[in-house]
This record gives sequence, C-alpha cells and structure tokens, in this order.
Amino acid sequence: MISCPQNIEQFEDLFKSEDDCIRCLIQVRWPNGFICEKCQSTKHWLSGKLLGCSTCGNKVRILAGTIFQDTKLPLMKWFRAIWEVVRRKSGVSALALQDELGLTYKTVWTLLHKIRRAMVRPGREKLKGTVEVDETLYGSFEEGYPGRGSDKKALIIIGVELNDNDSLGRIRMNLIESASADNINVFIEENIDKGTNIITDGWSGYHSISKYGYKHDVKCISKDKDALPHVHLVISLFKRWILGTYQGGISRDQLEYYLDEHVFRFNRRMSKNRGLLFQRIIENSVKVEPVTYNKISRGTKPYSEREKIII
Ligand SMILES: [Zn+2]
Repeated sequence: MISCPQNIEQFEDLFKSEDDCIRCLIQVRWPNGFICEKCQSTKHWLSGKLLGCSTCGNKVRILAGTIFQDTKLPLMKWFRAIWEVVRRKSGVSALALQDELGLTYKTVWTLLHKIRRAMVRPGREKLKGTVEVDETLYGSFEEGYPGRGSDKKALIIIGVELNDNDSLGRIRMNLIESASADNINVFIEENIDKGTNIITDGWSGYHSISKYGYKHDVKCISKDKDALPHVHLVISLFKRWILGTYQGGISRDQLEYYLDEHVFRFNRRMSKNRGLLFQRIIENSVKVEPVTYNKISRGTKPYSEREKIII
C-alpha cells in the first residue's frame, strides 16, 4: 500500500525527489519486498532505476514493463501529472497542463494518454445485478480527417449498473464498429457477469444474449417515455465532460481512451479521497503494457484544429 496524498502539500512532501518516486514504484511492484525471480534471494542493491540481486547478480530495470518504460522525463513530472489528473474532478487537458508542468504540448498530450492507459485495471470486476445497455452515435468529424475510417460518427456502447434504489452504479463504455450481435455480445461478455439481468431496447443485435447466460429484459420504445434513461444520462454526461474539459475537441483516433477516462472518473465520482485515485493509477501503471508515442498517435499528429470532433 503506497501513501495517498490528500492535497498538494502532502503530495510535494511525499515526492520530493526521483528517489521518492522510485521507492514508491518499488513498493508497488514488490508489495511484499523484493524477491529475485532467479534465485529467490531478498538481498538487493538499488542504483538509480536499476535494482540488483546481491546473491546472483540478476538485474531488474524498475521501469521496464510499466507505462514509464523508456521515459526521458523525470518521474517527478509523471507523478505530478498523475496528481493533476486526479485532483481535479473533471480532469485536465494537455493545453491546460503544459504551462504547469513546463513541458511542450506534444509531451503533455503523450503523457496524459499514457496515464489514461493506467485507468483500466487489468482483470477489473465486471458489472452485475441489473444493467442497462444501449449504443449511441457520437460526434461529427470534419471532412478530410486523416485518421482511420471515413464514417463521420463513432458508435459507442454503454453498460450502466442500476442500484436497488434505481440510482446509477458503475459503468462501462466501448467503441464498436457496428451494432451487430457479434460486437454486442463481445462487449457484454467482457464487461458483464453471467446471470445479470440486462435491460435493452428491441434491437435485433440483442436477441441472442439470453443464450449466453444472461437474463434479458426488453423495453419497448415509446415517444413519451425514455425506456433506457440511465444509459442516456451517462452519454450526456460524457458529452458535457468533453465539452468542459477538452474545449477544443478530441481526436477520433483516441476516443476510446477518453471513454476509459470517463469510466474511471464516473466509477469514482463519490470518492472524496483523491489520493485513492492517485494510488489506483500508480498501481495500474506497473501492470499495463507500455505504449509508445507512435502507437498512441497512430501516425497522425496530436490534436489539431483539423482533427477535432464537433459535437
Ligand atoms: Zn538472485
């Protein structure tokens, strides 16, 4: 368990140096203390970002296999960026953060996208109980947009857990290519526990879900009443968040990662402890695959006027 800063003073006190950040990551990677994977010895030495076994000489690069792999930035900048991302309830754009960190727009944009990768915990618990599911078209992309696909809108599928008092529980959001039964079933199986009661509209893509071990409750669409109000509320909150935080727009190529960020924030919206969110991202940061700038940008430039989504 790492320390959870509750405010900027505590944050600055906990992470005063590169060594403080390294020690934190060692604690997260080896919560029960370092054990050499070659000889099981616990005796070790530490030199910068390198940890060595004193018994057999095996060396481990502490940042290898984490989101920090191959970084040229000081870890203190990374940690500060993660703190800025979690301390604001609505997050922060690269534009707003670049001056604060004293880094270029492109660097901060990349940093934030790498941090978004650590917002999804591998093996996270699936939704359960009663879950509303629906898809929606999102965004309108400018002509000449250089990214993949020519469709002007993206299709998002949303699952929303309903609490007993009908309030919103946890959510999941994914991009899908089309609302085919195959795509819908993949989303449901990856994100929702078997046995869950799933509420949908009458779209044919949902017809087979009861075959996969789910209870299926089909709501009829009527003009007067929204049959799936919870998913529609979640998508409108997502749109409002993008407009508020990323005022210039976002690129379609990265849309799925903004969905991940929204899910991360939404599912922790009741948490008053921002330090716990910081802790969760740091924990995930050593578990998710490292990703390069080229993979993030997919060969296109970071956000520019030309690439924006118009909502
Ligand atoms: Zn060893």
